[in-house]
Amino acid sequence: MITQITNDAYTTQEKLQILADAAKYDVACTSSGSSRRGKKGGLGNAEACGICHSFAADGRCISLLKILMTNHCAYDCKYCINRSSNDVKRATFTPQEICELTVEFYKRNYIEGLFLSSGVLKNPTYTMEKMCETLLLLRTRYHFNGYIHVKTIPGASDELLAAAGYLADRISVNLELPTEAALRSLAPNKTMQNILNPMGKVQSTISSHRMAIGKSAYMERSRGNQFLSHSIFSDDSKKIFREKLNTQTTDTRLKDHTTDKKDNLNSISQKQSKLPRHILTWENACQLAPLDMSDLKRSFAPAGQSTQMIIGATGESDYTLLQTTQALYQGFDLKRVFYSAYIPLNEDSVLPQIGTPPPLLREHRLYQADWLLRFYGFQANELLSESQPNFNELLDPKCDWALRHLEHFPIDVETASYATLLRVPGIGPKSASRITYARRYGRLNFESLKKMGVVLKRAHYFITCGGRQMYHTPVEQEYITRQLVHVDTKDLWKVQHSTETYSQMTLADFGIG
Ligand code: SF4
Repeated sequence: MITQITNDAYTTQEKLQILADAAKYDVACTSSGSSRRGKKGGLGNAEACGICHSFAADGRCISLLKILMTNHCAYDCKYCINRSSNDVKRATFTPQEICELTVEFYKRNYIEGLFLSSGVLKNPTYTMEKMCETLLLLRTRYHFNGYIHVKTIPGASDELLAAAGYLADRISVNLELPTEAALRSLAPNKTMQNILNPMGKVQSTISSHRMAIGKSAYMERSRGNQFLSHSIFSDDSKKIFREKLNTQTTDTRLKDHTTDKKDNLNSISQKQSKLPRHILTWENACQLAPLDMSDLKRSFAPAGQSTQMIIGATGESDYTLLQTTQALYQGFDLKRVFYSAYIPLNEDSVLPQIGTPPPLLREHRLYQADWLLRFYGFQANELLSESQPNFNELLDPKCDWALRHLEHFPIDVETASYATLLRVPGIGPKSASRITYARRYGRLNFESLKKMGVVLKRAHYFITCGGRQMYHTPVEQEYITRQLVHVDTKDLWKVQHSTETYSQMTLADFGIG
């Protein structure tokens, strides 16, 4: 075991080099989903479209100021560069240092938000205390109103989890590995329960907040929530909160029967405007965390929660990963599940050898499948099965599914339902909506489909328009597979040779160092 010594001799800039570099393996960092406007006297905003974020070709979000609070860690996860047994340079930011960096970088337009993660300094509670202190300082003393995504430390107290949720826009609890067995083998200090508990509590609290302001309990389309009873709040505050919720729900239901939708919306907004508003301050924030904070001006994790899984460190199939992903979306209403192709950094007999290329293409296919689960109405067991547990690397999962179900094709775009259109390779939710709208007013042709965003180079094998194919191509698996593999080759080359995938921003990008 390497003794870890806090080296206070590092300058802030040296710490930044160490801790920004150490954070680059955490990909759970998208900044979409929050829509808070800037306010007078505050700094920054979290408008969904104004956030500075981008995505690499494989769908991975590349964030800007993504740092660890510390890369000291009491845990020894085998896959992690910061594990306690590794001999690496260690540093720890003070809360003030993180605030100053965030604000300075923000003012210089380098960043629009902060992604804050951390190793386990002493223990989970101590670490979360320091992270919450940082966020509280940022929000109250530095009046930073920009986007904050915080990664929570499983095992910290519920009060700290609550405080983090009220201070940040998005919360993530990283699952890291898709099964209990994999966690046992590679992350002996972590358990599935330890990770799923805070995830359930965060989800339950987000739901409660959404319902209190008249929104649907679920942020995403996922259904069901077996964890709703595990609230962060104490039983007393839950009771008060439920009473309030019940009143609101009953009122809304009664209204549903007697008024139109517009009246209903007005009624909800009137209720919202009647809610007392308190401003979160440095003085009151610490005491507020364990209480019902439904009346607070700041809502709980408005951009939802996400998680990350490592791909390729253990031997799970794509099917297992996708089933876990689906369960997470359904059970925890997650905003995103991120995948991180494992980069071998540590020598260990249970891990891929150093030098093994990260499975970028596999990660890419999983992101594509994740998209199909979230926006196209697919289920994990439609895309993969026990007998076909991994994605075809040569074809995207939707093309692969269509080729295995040619009995459904070709479909005619003038008559097919929205759900059927979504199953056609080359047709997405936007183009499917445009098709269903446009055909009410006239006939469609391939030229108009192209203008609606249909990717005809993929779609034309699977559709007819007014009973005609675009070209006279056979609807045969072998023939279409050959053509589609050719279409995909260029994209695949980009994924496999992408330099963006692991290009975390460095200090050079900021013109520093
Ligand atoms: S808890 Fe595990 S994954 Fe996180 S920093 Fe520590 S060793 Fe790495």
